[in-house]
Amino acid sequence: MIYLDHAATTPLRPEAREAMAPFHGDLFGNPSGAHGIARRAKNALEAAREEAAELLGAEHPLDVVFTSGATEADNLAVVGAALAGGRRGGVVASAVEHEAVLEAARFAGRLGCPVEIVGVDDRGVADPEATAAACGPDTAVVALMAANNETGARQPVAKVAHAVRAQAPQALVHCDAVQSFVTEDVTVPALGADLVALSAHKFGGPQGTGLLYVRPGTDLEPVLHGGGQELGRRSGTHNVAGVVGMVAAMRATVADRTGFRERIGEARRRFEDRVRRAAPDAAFTLDPADRLVQHSHLRIPGVRADTMLVRLDAVGLAASAGSACSSGAMETSHVLAAMGIPAGDAAECLRFTFGWDHRPESGDAAGEIVAAVIGKLR
Ligand code: PLP
Repeated sequence: MIYLDHAATTPLRPEAREAMAPFHGDLFGNPSGAHGIARRAKNALEAAREEAAELLGAEHPLDVVFTSGATEADNLAVVGAALAGGRRGGVVASAVEHEAVLEAARFAGRLGCPVEIVGVDDRGVADPEATAAACGPDTAVVALMAANNETGARQPVAKVAHAVRAQAPQALVHCDAVQSFVTEDVTVPALGADLVALSAHKFGGPQGTGLLYVRPGTDLEPVLHGGGQELGRRSGTHNVAGVVGMVAAMRATVADRTGFRERIGEARRRFEDRVRRAAPDAAFTLDPADRLVQHSHLRIPGVRADTMLVRLDAVGLAASAGSACSSGAMETSHVLAAMGIPAGDAAECLRFTFGWDHRPESGDAAGEIVAAVIGKLR
């Protein structure tokens, strides 16, 4: 099986598997306890926090809040900022955000927070001035992802953060950096955001673990209430194994980023060249310069994506149509709709995403399979 669905989830990196193993054995303690077994878990958790903060260029380890993934981190950022201090602050979000941000914004809206969704251009990119113009004195948070999970479109997060600060200095800037962490410089100084969400399973860590970077001094209303872990910002017994595995995967990802970009870039180029030879009319949604290096999003005119996916699966290639983060249902993607792509064209769009376990030759092998299936379907 050739797996080209790394934007949905990734296989576990060996570094993460190895780091986690002791925590599924002797190091099983609950870090909130008051005995030696708990302390060993607590020490591991805090060492992981320290390293995560360093890898993110954060000022202090306590700027990192561990969560159950990016859905929770996005909810804490959006809902937590909007409701902070007992207010009903405004939420501004780009139209191409992940559902975890958009649905959190809608939830805040149902609680009485004003919500503004800002459109994007035909490359799916947000405009700094238009985003800033959507902010007012009551805006609590502005959400812009670093790169889109469907198309791979990269966003000018630092420019948007700058423009928002000039217009609405009280507003926090939240960046969902889930997809870009693998190949882009995801650090607090580079993004210029106050809040940054990551999900371990998108970069070779385990599923069900993530984090939210929170700039020091930021007031967030918790969304999970209970035992007061994470300084009261996120209650719930820690997933120590998950956190340790996530940070091992972060370390491996950051150390390998440059080589990784080259390997994956070459794989993706070879793949796209082969697809173009099989279907000269294949329409790539974005120019390579506008998208993540691991991302290929394209339309094969006249071939439905769902038909193509079934055929690809049957011959051993896993890919995706639209966003695989949600139900997997063939609904018209809100991302492609926001870019002005008609529903009929969107139904022909496929997403192939490469990852850490690929070599340049993976692109040739995948390209051959896709070319053969296109040949049969046309
Ligand atoms: N944000 C983006 C951009 C994603 O691609 C995903 C994928 O699922 C999420 C958030 C949600 O992350 P998680 O699966 O950790 O809840």
